[in-house]
Amino acid sequence: MHFASEPYERHVHENGQQRDVRRVTLIPGDGVGPEVVRSARRIIEAAGVPIEWEEAEAGAEVFRRGDTSGVPRETQESIERTRVVLKGPLETPVGYGEKSANVTLRKLFETYANVRPCRELPGVPTRYAGEGIDLVVVRENMEDLYAGIEHLQTPDVAQCLKIITRRGSEKVIRYAFELARREGRRRVTAATKANIMKLTEGLFKRVHEELAAEYREVEADHLIIDNAAHQLVKDPSQFDIIVTTNLNGDIISDLASGLVGGLGFASSGNYGDDVAIFEAVHGSAPKYASKDVINPTALILSSVLMLRHIGEFEAADRIEDAVLVTLEEGQAVTQDLARLSGDVEAATSTTGYTEAVISNLGRHPAGGSVRSSAGIPEAVVPRRTMTSAGSAREASGDRKLVGADVFLETDVAVDELGPELERLSGDSLRVAMISSRGTRVYPPSGLRAEDIGWYQCRFVAPGTNGDGGSAVSDREVLELLGRVSERHRVTQVEMLQSFNGEPGYTRAQGE
Ligand code: NAD
Repeated sequence: MHFASEPYERHVHENGQQRDVRRVTLIPGDGVGPEVVRSARRIIEAAGVPIEWEEAEAGAEVFRRGDTSGVPRETQESIERTRVVLKGPLETPVGYGEKSANVTLRKLFETYANVRPCRELPGVPTRYAGEGIDLVVVRENMEDLYAGIEHLQTPDVAQCLKIITRRGSEKVIRYAFELARREGRRRVTAATKANIMKLTEGLFKRVHEELAAEYREVEADHLIIDNAAHQLVKDPSQFDIIVTTNLNGDIISDLASGLVGGLGFASSGNYGDDVAIFEAVHGSAPKYASKDVINPTALILSSVLMLRHIGEFEAADRIEDAVLVTLEEGQAVTQDLARLSGDVEAATSTTGYTEAVISNLGRHPAGGSVRSSAGIPEAVVPRRTMTSAGSAREASGDRKLVGADVFLETDVAVDELGPELERLSGDSLRVAMISSRGTRVYPPSGLRAEDIGWYQCRFVAPGTNGDGGSAVSDREVLELLGRVSERHRVTQVEMLQSFNGEPGYTRAQGE
């Protein structure tokens, strides 16, 4: 992918003065998108920011024209030029291919960090008003179950691979620490399910611990994700930055938005090495499209994030302050907010709200600006090689193939299957155990497991107790597969490896 070296253009004014104008790709999007995008654009222009907008298409209309990506080539080229996108929500119309144009955009430009600030806004009634919530959820945006690698193992057994990498984890966790530094935040909490998923979520947790050593001025702690959810609802103001894997982040970032007023106020930035995409969290809300009633605050606050990203700190603070003044003084109250306050009659239009914000540019909220970022550069994640632990593990050479998990479908009862597989295993391998959905059923463990006719059959070198023991060869595993597949339907094979004597696989429950 080619990126222009500098996405600026020099403009010479009539008076002979030169000014660098920043190009930004503007995607109006679907439903209420064009209205909220227009509102943000008007406010940015009123604040005097020199931006040259490149309007580009994506979403429903593009799908309807038969482009199955939803993101036309011209839009991609514009983003390669500008490297910054402000976008409205995109709809994925049913029946025009299944891939969401949003996901396509994130994947095309590897925007690995999804960042959602959630903080108490004046004049927005919530259950937590007065507690001073001011937190950021940083969600890994590329990996995890969202890699979308799914397989039906049998007509009735589906599987989705959860992919977590050291590189992916390091990028997003480093982003979170750099953000803490830049905003003067004191703590980065990793929220994982490492107690259950020791290898995947555990890797994320370990990388967070390793990186914490490089950011000693920032406190680093860890919470199990379910406890994080509980704590978020019970006492949200204790949090500062939460960094987490994709699925966890998807759920708790929506939860966090709900704490501070909901979709009308929830902003986000998707940051990659080369490109950043700014958008509201909400969707296209089709029933409100073209009615001039939608709350544009979420997109306005997303555009504030964008302005900070491109170094327009002063304008960002001015716009944010103007939004806060408008909300604080209750001058213009959009329909969603009027409903929260129980006074729907008092609702202002999207346009009316936008004009109120413009008229407040230059004013400061009585309750103070929430967090000024003037002059502090955007969090830049250094493009460096990954931390030593991963490379050391690679370099050590102490990596062995020690067996294989053969997943198979059969109607042979498990007490017959075990001895049969023992006979098929040959001299170089033996059956360590058979599990049903992760619970050992052979040799019997005493645990009850529903019989679903699909088993994980673990073969290891003799003398090994599932502890990353003696090596076996690829050939021995392949020959075993040949013998087993003559008798049963093999649906999946996982090679078992050990790293520095540590098993690179987990034990079954009861093993
Ligand atoms: P939605 O966010 O569009 O709307 C749900 C409801 O939330 C609305 O009916 C409205 O009551 C309220 N709401 C949303 N935004 C609001 C705002 N700015 N002001 C006031 N109230 C607001 O969610 P949905 O109905 O599930 O999705 C509609 C479409 O949007 C779908 O096609 C979906 O795929 C798409 N979508 C896109 C994005 C994105 O582009 N990032 C995100 C979510 C959903």
